[in-house]
Amino acid sequence: ATPLVTAVSTSIGAKKGLLVRDRGAFENARKINAIVFDKTGTLTEGQFGVTDIQEVGTSKEELLSIAYSVELNSEHPIAKGIVNKGKEENVKRMEVADYRNITGKGLEAKVDGRNIKVVSPGFMRGENISFEDEQYEKMAKEGKTVVFVLEEKKLLGFIALSDIIRESAKEAVTKLKSMGVESIMLTGDNQRVADHVGREIGIDTIFAEVLPGEKAAKVEALHQEGKTVAMTGDGVNDAPALAKANLGIAIGAGTDVAIETADVILVKSNPLDVVNILKLSRATYRKML
Ligand code: ADP
Ligand code: MG
Repeated sequence: ATPLVTAVSTSIGAKKGLLVRDRGAFENARKINAIVFDKTGTLTEGQFGVTDIQEVGTSKEELLSIAYSVELNSEHPIAKGIVNKGKEENVKRMEVADYRNITGKGLEAKVDGRNIKVVSPGFMRGENISFEDEQYEKMAKEGKTVVFVLEEKKLLGFIALSDIIRESAKEAVTKLKSMGVESIMLTGDNQRVADHVGREIGIDTIFAEVLPGEKAAKVEALHQEGKTVAMTGDGVNDAPALAKANLGIAIGAGTDVAIETADVILVKSNPLDVVNILKLSRATYRKML
């Protein structure tokens, strides 16, 4: 009778948009007491829009034109936001060479022969380039993600973007809390943005400015604290952490690598389905005892 109960539950799961790839991990989902959420694309829509452009060492148009030209080479949600803005404003496309990612911190390239970087506040701090002005503070307080455009170490300006928090993420975190499950956010974005989004959603624990290679180690550290952990993510960078977690959950709209590594896939990319996984696992395997 046991396999039948499981088969029925996984087909209920399929109807709800949960694809169970690893039955054993799904069975153990009833023991999970902490869920790690990737911020961008999981707790938020992952669709950044440009809200402010502040030029410092150049004109507004040139600033956007430079950023637009480099970001055409990136797949990051921030890049898509900047590219959309560049198209909207019809800015000139400059010649880009030697494009390179600066892991978890931005990118660099030669733009019309100039050495350009588009980077995070964390990168600026690391290089001791000053940027803390009133305008930046205001944007950071509003929970916006700010990227800086540099030529060598000279600040050309910055661009602020905002993403939309998923209403379903708030509901999911509230429900998890009532089930005794801790919600943890893991993001490469800066602390201010992470705090803003976390507060809005009611997340218990926040880890910000986490480099892609550090995500799996964070999951490992939670194991060390005695936690049974589920991890949700969508990116290539999330795959090692998905593999490390007791239960790896991929967002259906995510990259193939994440989907291939995960134990369960959320076909509808809805954070509330994380709650459904735990409920379904608890209900199914209670029956079997
Ligand atoms: P996350 O998936 O949590 O956003 P990432 O590691 O992908 O984390 O990115 C971390 C940070 O690196 C971003 O918040 C941003 O500041 C910077 N970054 C990454 N890619 C780009 C890009 N294409 N353009 C500008 N900044 C970027
Ligand atoms: Mg990501």
